[in-house]
Amino acid sequence: MARVYNFSAGPAVLPEEVLQEAAAEMMDYKGSGMSVMEMSHRSKVYDTIMKEAEKDLRELMNIPENYKVLFLQGGASQQFSAIPMNLMKNGVADFIITGQWAKKAYQEACRYGKAVKIASSEDKTFSYIPDCSDLPVDDDADYVYICENNTIYGTKFKELPNTKGKTLVADVSSCFLSEPHDVEKYGLLFGGVQKNVGPAGVVIVIVREDLIRDDVMEGTPTMLKYKTQADKDSLYNTPPCYGIYICGKVFKWLKKQGGLAAMKEYNEKKAKILYDFLDESKMFQGTVEKKDRSLMNVPFITGDKDLDAKFVAEAAEAGFVNLKGHRTVGGMRASIYNAMPIEGVEKLVAFMREFEKNNG
Ligand SMILES: *Cc1c(COP(=O)(O)O)cnc(C)c1O
Repeated sequence: MARVYNFSAGPAVLPEEVLQEAAAEMMDYKGSGMSVMEMSHRSKVYDTIMKEAEKDLRELMNIPENYKVLFLQGGASQQFSAIPMNLMKNGVADFIITGQWAKKAYQEACRYGKAVKIASSEDKTFSYIPDCSDLPVDDDADYVYICENNTIYGTKFKELPNTKGKTLVADVSSCFLSEPHDVEKYGLLFGGVQKNVGPAGVVIVIVREDLIRDDVMEGTPTMLKYKTQADKDSLYNTPPCYGIYICGKVFKWLKKQGGLAAMKEYNEKKAKILYDFLDESKMFQGTVEKKDRSLMNVPFITGDKDLDAKFVAEAAEAGFVNLKGHRTVGGMRASIYNAMPIEGVEKLVAFMREFEKNNG
């Protein structure tokens, strides 16, 4: 078995222990005589999987009682429509544009109401997080929307914006469970799980109960109405059963690592190794403002396209794969999610050092 160090932005690396457990349970899940893939989502054994997953997630994130946890399909992108359809009561939402994902959410919201850009970092290719301490939040805004960790550009909100009392909605796809989240500060947070939590096909939505309404926008599909999903505990129709099962295993793995505070410490230590090297290297440079650096996605460049390509190719050859930057940014990007071991980053940095010596 030859496992590589996978720096993919998503779908991304998962804990080996989780994959091994899943493999061991593939043919016969706990004496049921079948795989989790083959079982009814209404069966008792599956019900336990789902309930435990929710319970463990609630424990990990310290989710207050008055928040619902929904396990849904359609990826994070589906939420770009579901959120305005469910939450735009006055028909107005404010957006802080810090990258492609926030922009896509904004563009989708424009189809359903008045979406307003109240801040943006597009002037400098999204290489920083704008000052959000005193933004022109609309009086009748139903919510203020952010993408908390910008997967493509490698920035992260270190401080949540001052929403002036308005509901905060956040896409946390690429920082989900990488550190503690103060759930009470959000009205709704959601994440596609394929970045840091599980296999593609599941999106987790954590939403305060008072935002779950019956009087949603005219024409909202039944499936996209949070009330439909909340009333049925995410079992209105067949949920992404196998994906939820793997997420559940990742939640247990995270608890075993010591929870989210321990994860944060580990992730900080891990990211520091790479950032420290980028700061001292003469060949490689980070591309974003230091204060806004993401712990999960680390873009970097050499400033020479051919050298970038050579690096990516030689790194892959050496077992460090998926380091090519996003097609809109170029250069490189190392995604170092929870399941990337610290040795992976240490070895990558050693490889970069060697590459710099040989090509400098
Ligand atoms: C990957 C990503 C998305 C899109 O996720 P899908 O599940 O493919 O729809 C949205 N937001 C962020 C922050 C992402 O990283």
